[in-house]
Amino acid sequence: MIILKIGGSILTEKDSAKAEVDFENLNRVAEEIKEALFSEDSNSSLGNELIFVHGAGSFGHPPAKKHRIGEPFEEDKLAEKRLGFAEIQNEVKKLNSIICDVFVQHDIPAVAIPPSSFITTNNKRVDEFNLDLIKSYINEGFVPVLYGDVVLDKKLRMAVISGDQVIQHIAKFIKSDRIVLGTDVDGVYTKNPKLHDDAIHIDKVSSLEDIEFLESTTNVDVTGGMVGKVKELLELADLGVESEIIDASEVGAIAKALKGLEVHGTKISK
Ligand code: ADP
Repeated sequence: MIILKIGGSILTEKDSAKAEVDFENLNRVAEEIKEALFSEDSNSSLGNELIFVHGAGSFGHPPAKKHRIGEPFEEDKLAEKRLGFAEIQNEVKKLNSIICDVFVQHDIPAVAIPPSSFITTNNKRVDEFNLDLIKSYINEGFVPVLYGDVVLDKKLRMAVISGDQVIQHIAKFIKSDRIVLGTDVDGVYTKNPKLHDDAIHIDKVSSLEDIEFLESTTNVDVTGGMVGKVKELLELADLGVESEIIDASEVGAIAKALKGLEVHGTKISK
């Protein structure tokens, strides 16, 4: 079993104000998954059990920021918030539909499992998240596809759940051989490598102390960027579950990581 999450920074034009898919990257991601796990000549010893999770990128983050989903609000704003929630839910569903379409074109049996239809949170952390259906789809040979979405929240009424939190919860309860997160940088640095030439690569993160000096990340991201990602993965590391962050824009990196080959990145483990 492999859990693969590919960020919105790869699958969408994330900095763009408009919701746009990066089809070049999306097609390549599908090809690499197919090559590593689903082609007849694939020599992967793992078979083809895969759960795929994607970020919301430019489909989700700009409207979530605009409508301030996840922030407390006055009762007279409820109708407006509901509409915002509905708009975001619809946008990320469109992205998901395009991704599943491309996967199916590559002979990957992808089935969409929208988080907003069965996950709830309590103050932005998972409350209800039943994994039974995901397990059943896997047993039937499908590839469940989940994503960053909006969900009902017990405390805040509505919240955003990141793809990173989604994989964290899944990986806690479904034993996997590998957890791979592909983003647009090759792991965690001492500073944002996109902004600082003197950023130093960190090969392994084991505890929150290792990242406490990190500045907060990209400002379009309402779910925490790199720091949020590492925090989710550290919760897994605490349970003895190892994961890795790799550069999914590097051609071949995803296929290699899926096959268990060494890829330059950051390991999150104890
Ligand atoms: P994704 O959409 O792929 O989930 P994010 O955009 O949320 O990814 O996070 C990845 C981004 O985090 C990188 O593009 C990088 O610019 C930014 N970032 C900020 N701080 C760091 C850091 N210390 N190390 C690595 N990346 C960082």
